[in-house]
Amino acid sequence: MRNGLSGYVKNRADAGVEILLEGQEQVIRQFLKSLKKDKPPLAKFHHIITSTLPGKNEHTEFVIKKSSNEAELSGSVIPPDIAICDDCLRELRDPKDPRFEYFFITCTNCGPRFTIIEKLPYDRDNTTMRVFPMCGFCLNEYKDPLNRRFHAQTVACPRCGPRVCLADAKGEVLREKDPVREAGKLLSEGKILAVKGYGGFHVAVSTTKPEPLMRLREVKHRSQKPFAVMARSLEATRTFAEVSKSQAGLLTSYVRPIVLLNKSREYYLSDSVAPGLHNIGVMLPYTGLHYMLFDKVEDSAFVMTSANPPNQPITKDNDEALRTLKGTVDFFLFHDRQIAHRCDDSAVRMHGVNRVLIRRSRGYAPAPITLRRKARRRVLGLGGELNNTSCILNGDKVFLSQHIGDVDNVETWAFLDDATKHLIRLTNSGIDTVACDLHPKFVTTHLAKHWAEENGWQPVRVQHHYAHVAALMIEHNVDEIVGVCCDGYGYGTDGEAWGGEVLSCTDEAFGFKRVAHLEAQPMMGGDLATYYPLRMAAGILHGHVDLEAWLLRNRQHFPHREKEVQIILQQLEKKENAIRTTSCGRVLDAVSAVLGICHERTYEGEPSLKLESTAVKGKDILKLKPTVRGGDTLDTTQLLIDIFENKDKHSKADLAYSAHTYLAEGLAALAIEKASENNIKTIGFSGGVAANEILTLSLRKTVKASGLRFLVHRDVPPGDAGLSFGQAVASGFFPF
Ligand SMILES: [Zn+2]
Ligand SMILES: [Zn+2]
Ligand SMILES: [Zn+2]
Repeated sequence: MRNGLSGYVKNRADAGVEILLEGQEQVIRQFLKSLKKDKPPLAKFHHIITSTLPGKNEHTEFVIKKSSNEAELSGSVIPPDIAICDDCLRELRDPKDPRFEYFFITCTNCGPRFTIIEKLPYDRDNTTMRVFPMCGFCLNEYKDPLNRRFHAQTVACPRCGPRVCLADAKGEVLREKDPVREAGKLLSEGKILAVKGYGGFHVAVSTTKPEPLMRLREVKHRSQKPFAVMARSLEATRTFAEVSKSQAGLLTSYVRPIVLLNKSREYYLSDSVAPGLHNIGVMLPYTGLHYMLFDKVEDSAFVMTSANPPNQPITKDNDEALRTLKGTVDFFLFHDRQIAHRCDDSAVRMHGVNRVLIRRSRGYAPAPITLRRKARRRVLGLGGELNNTSCILNGDKVFLSQHIGDVDNVETWAFLDDATKHLIRLTNSGIDTVACDLHPKFVTTHLAKHWAEENGWQPVRVQHHYAHVAALMIEHNVDEIVGVCCDGYGYGTDGEAWGGEVLSCTDEAFGFKRVAHLEAQPMMGGDLATYYPLRMAAGILHGHVDLEAWLLRNRQHFPHREKEVQIILQQLEKKENAIRTTSCGRVLDAVSAVLGICHERTYEGEPSLKLESTAVKGKDILKLKPTVRGGDTLDTTQLLIDIFENKDKHSKADLAYSAHTYLAEGLAALAIEKASENNIKTIGFSGGVAANEILTLSLRKTVKASGLRFLVHRDVPPGDAGLSFGQAVASGFFPF
């Protein structure tokens, strides 16, 4: 060793690293200092524990020992997948390099981790790289402490590593010399391809040719849902989207998430990539293979959307892809490395300089979020139903799983089960409590009950919005907060449908109280009102405007046309077939329908996302004063009436913006009042609606103007992707 110390280093089964050093005390101290200073770019120190051992020196040199199977510490840290580093990218392009044009070139600083690890310790034998024995050249680099690939478990080259092949729609392998670049050419020509990556398959297609895009939408039954794209470079991204400095930082970071960017004035990609939206999800290539796809074509971006059958997890195995994507794609780009764990791309949006996680998955999971205090219990949180994740709280670390999806069918349920058990194993966590939602019928509620009985864990049920706000409190280490929590739906403590709540929360004796909310509005036809927002608008406007004439004018937006309109009107008269909800999402949906922006929800959040996209260019033309009734209820009926009555007088943009301002200022006013009543100095904003930039900025402005502190999420998604985190920390930190 450079500084004359001897001893050893080894990976432990708990993902910790053990170093034994022999030598002069002063030199050892110096080494520890430089360890922190000169660490490799990806290395993170979570804890350094040192102790002095008695006895004589036993080592004459410094060696790397084979990993042990000890697992003393629990709460192990597993690295996430890392995008290709600059050094590897340079070698990929260097004709003199032995890994020239090798699509899976990696080193110690980059490459897959989480998606290839089957068990700990993180050694090649415990990964899906096991079946690719290193050639002499790779082995020499692997063994050389001075080499960048020293002990890189993914090291491989064209001679010994995974191989790639192109196959036709039937799975017949085509004898292509350069399958990756050939795949790029096919995409550019308008073919649809399935491309296997680190954590699963993407379906890829041109971003400028309407025909294959429409064909893909048709076979996937995704008429409107935006597709994410992969751009060849940051410069290429700037030709169709606006990229701020912080967005550029995120795009090029080793996480390489999908970043939501505003379409620029020069936007020239097809309208059917992200229809009706002002922004588009863009990511940059994160493997050598991705870079090579663009080599022989002019395209600035390709659509790269997760390949999954409707409501099922992302496809990961070759035979599974052949089975499920048959009829969807024209070609397959396969590689022969197994994916140990599926992992979707992450998605992020910036509100100014604040990062908002929409989906925390590849590049983040399962690296822990470190808290500023330690929990009393070891909790497993199972989340809710939509956009789900699971989560483990262990001491001061929280491990959120990769994106699981909507847990409403057997495939996603099995994925949740598998991913959660794997996370428990990998983090070596002895669970004592299992947390879930208050909803009695969620699959996750049943699963929690089952696991609690099976393992003797304590079951805890946490109300949906309490969990969202608890997540915010623990993330920022605050003891009390007035939380504004807005989303689509959460089961309330009274069994009602909540979703536009103001909660007063203190961690003492779990003092969570609902202190105010949006006006409860009828959902005509229950869940149908979620899919057809005109039904929501009808329920709110009934008795205030000439509803019959307006609904009949819009009858083409109801599946059963005039007949359906008449039934809705009859039910409204008799006050039938409507549960009530305080949901903020449903109010935004209703505004979207009244303004004629969206009449049918084909993906989650569609009406409100399109409303926000319309509002982006608007101003507060109506300047409505928030009306609060009974001291705790923000009126939304008059809001809808005002929007309705002005719909032919002002632009959709201005009216959409005015509705946002009304809700934000109304909720902020209620929160400020409740904060002052309870002598609380902090107001927070959580729930899926907190991803909305206009609402968040407006709330922030009003709260700050009152002199209070305003908090939003930083490392945890505000929507239901962060719910399991909230459940876990609520159970782990607050007395239940
Ligand atoms: Zn590298
Ligand atoms: Zn090799
Ligand atoms: Zn929620």
